[in-house]
Amino acid sequence: MEFNTDIFLNNIAQTTDSPYLITIERAEGIYLYAPDGKRYTDLISGIGVSNIGHRHPKVVKAIKEQVDKHLHVMVYGEFIQSAPNLLAKKITSLLPPHLDCCYFVNSGTEANEGALKLAKRYTRRTEIVSFRKSYHGSTHGSMSVSGNEVKKQAFRPLLPDVKFIDFNVAHDLEKITYATACVIVETIQGDAGVRVPSQGYMKALRKRCDETGALLIFDEIQCGMGRTGKLFAFEHFGIAPDILTIAKAFGGGLPIGSFISSKKIMQSLTHDPMLGHITTFGGNPVCCASALATLEVIEEENLLEQVEAKGKLFEELLKHPHIKEVRRIGLMFAIDFDSADRVNQIVMNAKELGIITYWFLSHPYSFRIAPPLTITEQEIKESCATILKAIENA
Ligand code: PMP
Repeated sequence: MEFNTDIFLNNIAQTTDSPYLITIERAEGIYLYAPDGKRYTDLISGIGVSNIGHRHPKVVKAIKEQVDKHLHVMVYGEFIQSAPNLLAKKITSLLPPHLDCCYFVNSGTEANEGALKLAKRYTRRTEIVSFRKSYHGSTHGSMSVSGNEVKKQAFRPLLPDVKFIDFNVAHDLEKITYATACVIVETIQGDAGVRVPSQGYMKALRKRCDETGALLIFDEIQCGMGRTGKLFAFEHFGIAPDILTIAKAFGGGLPIGSFISSKKIMQSLTHDPMLGHITTFGGNPVCCASALATLEVIEEENLLEQVEAKGKLFEELLKHPHIKEVRRIGLMFAIDFDSADRVNQIVMNAKELGIITYWFLSHPYSFRIAPPLTITEQEIKESCATILKAIENA
């Protein structure tokens, strides 16, 4: 099938030399269905969105109920029982006490934009420290702090005063100074190919930020919402950020993100200058209702408790001489091979066999697996048998 880029340009497969085009008509749980009835197992959760599976009945019901009440309205100081209010109450109840104030936005990239602006206003500093191979989004600010130099090249000049350091390399932390407004970091680097930092490193990062007064921003847009077996990945490290950004799986399939911080820090954006960030649709009630239902599903179905065992099962079953390395935390995997060509072939083979895996933006030697947390033991076994076939034929 030909893909008509004249009329629709969203989300074209990253590698144009191996097009990955599937028409999907319907989705349910971990499965996607093409118009001809072909079934695909979604092992990437729509790149980190459907952590509780596609069209979870509780989420669909909450969306329908909100649609029947009202869609977007613009009333300040709005109703105590409004969807954004209930969502803010819920999400802050699941976070450390100092993360008690949310700003709802429309995407991950916007959550990071808000977080960066907030840090600059609060600290009155301008320098931002980020990490090589990181990904924080595609608008100018979030792209400026993303570590993929090749992809940024066409858009220079970008935001000035951004410094890049190596992830999980302790001596580089000295480059965070008293001039640094903030450090933005993916708690687990996702598109660098699932890089899990050490406990010691994360504690040292927190300490260096405390020493210098730089705010620490954790981008959990990909690794949050239960993906690693904790609701938020920073819980693995016994530290917390000054600002947290979330999106993707937060909305359970609808577009919503948030930057979350303390009231004290957040006030710098509302008081000086007045309305330091404006967004018409941020906190859209339908998206908030969907996000609230998503958080309730994670709790009610005890999904977090099952993540580690399911992750281990994948790891045990995915053994093949062509696999060089498996990096994993919870149900977030990078499977490494000896060449990008082999990875391309495996991803394409898997697709033909009805399994959706995918590439990483900044690590061509791996493919990703990040299935819905609701995947069953039987589905894991079936998926792994198919993936091994895809590897064998590559
Ligand atoms: N940060 C991270 C870690 C991400 O993985 C992504 C999306 N891949 C973003 C930010 C940007 O999110 P969005 O696509 O919703 O703008």
